[in-house]
Amino acid sequence: MRLRAALIAFWAFAACAPAFAASWNEVRGDHFIVYYAVNEPFARQTLHNAEKYYARIADELGYARYSNFWQWENRAKIFVYADEGAYRKATGEAGWSHGLAIYSKKEIHAFLGIEGFHESILPHEIAHLIFRDFVGFKGQVPIWLDEGVAQWQEPMKREKANIVARWLLSQDKDLPLQDLFRTDPRALEDEEKVHFFYMQSVCLVDYLVRTYGAQAFTTFCRELRDGRTFADALQKAYRIETIADLDLRWRTELGQRPVVELETYS
Ligand SMILES: [Zn+2]
Repeated sequence: MRLRAALIAFWAFAACAPAFAASWNEVRGDHFIVYYAVNEPFARQTLHNAEKYYARIADELGYARYSNFWQWENRAKIFVYADEGAYRKATGEAGWSHGLAIYSKKEIHAFLGIEGFHESILPHEIAHLIFRDFVGFKGQVPIWLDEGVAQWQEPMKREKANIVARWLLSQDKDLPLQDLFRTDPRALEDEEKVHFFYMQSVCLVDYLVRTYGAQAFTTFCRELRDGRTFADALQKAYRIETIADLDLRWRTELGQRPVVELETYS
């Protein structure tokens, strides 16, 4: 079960400061600098993919015309540790963490040999940084929105999330949106509930962008950036009056689509 993969990508508001090893090598691109201990081909591949994801994420979230802010000294930094031990020692991250985005420093930390580095961890963490860079810290950005946007950028997650969310709805296991706002997956001990939290979050982001378009999502994020509450931003960007109304619309749309029986969530 790839449930742990859902947990790979927490973020950090705090500027925990991984030691800057004197032995880092680096490769530089337009928007990223990749620091690596060993394996230059992997570092170059990381840089290539990071630039590709950057363009795609900015475009899909509607940020493309605002996204010339990651160049030169504003480039994001990606640290690729030689192994898991070096990553944990430097970051102090727990055993379930396989990647880390530090918003305040625009840094991503991960390590060689982890499953899904290029396919999941990299787009997820870059999406966290781009989203937070755009949305800022003043507005009301719930965890589900932050994680939903990041996981939405992982290939295959959107369809999977829609399938799981439809099934949850059919089984009355879904969370009301108001409850989703109050949920911190780090505080959940039940792995299945953590998984459902993530899937529902991705599905909601997918619903907003698919139904109303990237431009409306950009407007929504701009309202949050300007310090609005979630409900006010929702009203401004989507003309949706309340969070309950969003919940109802999302459920109605989802309920019109067929349910696939799930035997496993992997
Ligand atoms: Zn994440």
